[in-house]
Formats: sequence, C-alpha cells, structure tokens
Amino acid sequence: MSLTAVGSIAFDSVRTPFGERERMLGGSAVHFSLAASFFTEVRVVGPVGEDFGGDEIGALEDRGVITDDIERVAGGETFFWQGHYDYDMNVAHTDDTQLNVFADFDPKLSEDSRNAEMLFLGNIQPDLQRRVRASCERAEFTALDSMNLWIETTRDALKEAIAEVDCLLLNDAEIRELTGEPNLAKAARAAMKLGPDVIVAKRGEYGAALFTEDEFFAIPGYLLEDVRDPTGAGDSFAGGFLGYLDSRRAAGESTLDHSTLRQAMAHGSVLASFNVEDFGTERVRSLTREEIDERLRDFRRITHFEVEPRGESGRSSAAPAERPLIN
Ligand code: AMP
Repeated sequence: MSLTAVGSIAFDSVRTPFGERERMLGGSAVHFSLAASFFTEVRVVGPVGEDFGGDEIGALEDRGVITDDIERVAGGETFFWQGHYDYDMNVAHTDDTQLNVFADFDPKLSEDSRNAEMLFLGNIQPDLQRRVRASCERAEFTALDSMNLWIETTRDALKEAIAEVDCLLLNDAEIRELTGEPNLAKAARAAMKLGPDVIVAKRGEYGAALFTEDEFFAIPGYLLEDVRDPTGAGDSFAGGFLGYLDSRRAAGESTLDHSTLRQAMAHGSVLASFNVEDFGTERVRSLTREEIDERLRDFRRITHFEVEPRGESGRSSAAPAERPLIN
C-alpha cells in the first residue's frame, strides 16, 4: 500500500487566543502526511528552500514519511503562511502568504511516487495539482483539497482539477462558495456533478459530512476542552481519512464501500482532534497508535445510540404507554 501526497510544505506563523508561534513546521502536505503515516506508507512531494533544515525533514522521517521527493531549491525560501484566529477558531484569518519556491514549482515525481495507488492533492495552485494527477496514472483513488484563495483566483482551473479526482474534501463554506449554492446538501450534489463520487464537507469543530450518490453520513467533532491551534486540522482529517482508506484498500476492500468510508471519517475526525490540541505539528508528532485507538473507542461510544424497537401499535415495546414517564 502506498499513498503519495502533494501540497504545501511550509513555515507557519500563527497566533490564537492561547498563544503564538513563529515559523513552525506546517503546510498542507506536512499535516496530511503525519496523520496518514499512522495507517499507510506515505511519500510527500513538494519543494522547500535552503531554510528548511534537518529538524524539519527529521520530523517527517521520524514518523516514517518518505521524503525522497522533497526537492530542495538552491537559493530558495520555503513557502510561508501567517495567520491568526479569534475566539471563533473555525475561521482562519490569513495575514500573509509567500509562495516562494512554490511560485516556480515544476513537480517531478520519482517512479515510486508515480506508482502510488492513492493520491492526495493537498491545497496548492490547482494547475500544479493537475500536473501531479496526470503523472500518477496508476492511482486508483485520488482526493483533492483546496481553499477559498483558489476558488476566488483560479476557479476554472480548480473545477478542471476537481473533475479529475474521485473525492473532494472542502470546508462547508468553500463548497458553498465553489458551487454558488447556499444549502450544503445541494452544494454537495452540485460538487458531485463536477466529477467526484465522494464529497467530504469539513465543518471545523462541528465535524464532517460525507456525501455519495445515494448515501449521506455525518460525524461530530470530538469535543475537547483544550483547543490551542486549529491550523492543519483539515489536512490532518484528510490524512486520517485517506491513510485509513488506503490500509483498507490494500486489504482488498472497495474505497467506495460506504461502511469503510464511514470508518475513514471517524479516523479523520480523531486525527484532526489530536492536531488541534497543540500548536502546529507538536501533538501529532508525539502521538501513538494506542492513543488513536483509545480515542476511536471513546468516539464510538459518544456517537452511538439505540433506537428502541416499536410494536405494531407504533408505540415503543420497551416503554409501554401505561408506564409513567416520570416516577
Ligand atoms: P488547514 O488544514 O486548512 O488548517 O491548513 C493549514 C495549512 O495550510 C497551513 O499549515 C498552511 O501552511 C497551509 N496554507 C495556507 N494557505 C495556503 C495556500 N494558499 N496554499 C497552500 N497551503 C496553504
């Protein structure tokens, strides 16, 4: 099993109501790969500058991420993003984006990366996403993430990129913006008409919703008392979702099986919940598989409920009418 991920590899400066950090390791491909690495073999593709050091590469390699296709550009500077969050941490405010080495990025993938069965096109310029998609001819399942910047500045290229993938992961507000449809269910249908069979609407702390041709599934966010930095939650969700899906694909299951997709949603939500517990990649870097499994069990418990069987009268057989409601 193997999964190739392209996307930003970044330095992020972030301020939240709970603190701030300068130039920490970030980027869509980084958050994604760290999360996916718990379930499958991940190859990360993208350029970095001379300022990207051994510590940053080491953070990926410590989790087993294969970094052979990280291209170091001589004299270049790594992609930089600066943002802040106010008390509504579902909304990221971008203060600065410097594409740097991404401005002239010409993706050249090694044979191993091109041969991956799963492909994640993380948030970068849509034409770059299309080029990587075109070079991974053997990918059986391809997913794409994007953001409002590309919806607003490169909408046509983004729609063409979306037409070439099996799964679209976007924030609910971005799906509405992309399709011009205020109702999320209708927006997801409209997004499906662009090409993908699977639409995942990420809803920040409220969880995520899954739409396929004839099924719908929604999952809440795992409720936390301490959320320090939501940066990368969407990519960690995607990493948990696709990483888990790849492990099941390798075990012979269909990536379009609804029960498998639901489990993948739970894995995505759980990885996202760990990501937000600390700044940048700090929490996921020290995460263990045991902690993931424990939170999955807890998540199942808090999202599970019974429906009482009903008798022919329509009344619940477990709660006869004569039984007083309050003792
Ligand atoms: P999210 O998972 O949506 O919170 O994504 C956060 C990551 O996206 C940060 O680590 C940023 O480095 C990265 N990012 C922000 N803006 C862009 C952009 N325009 N292109 C690519 N990556 C970006």
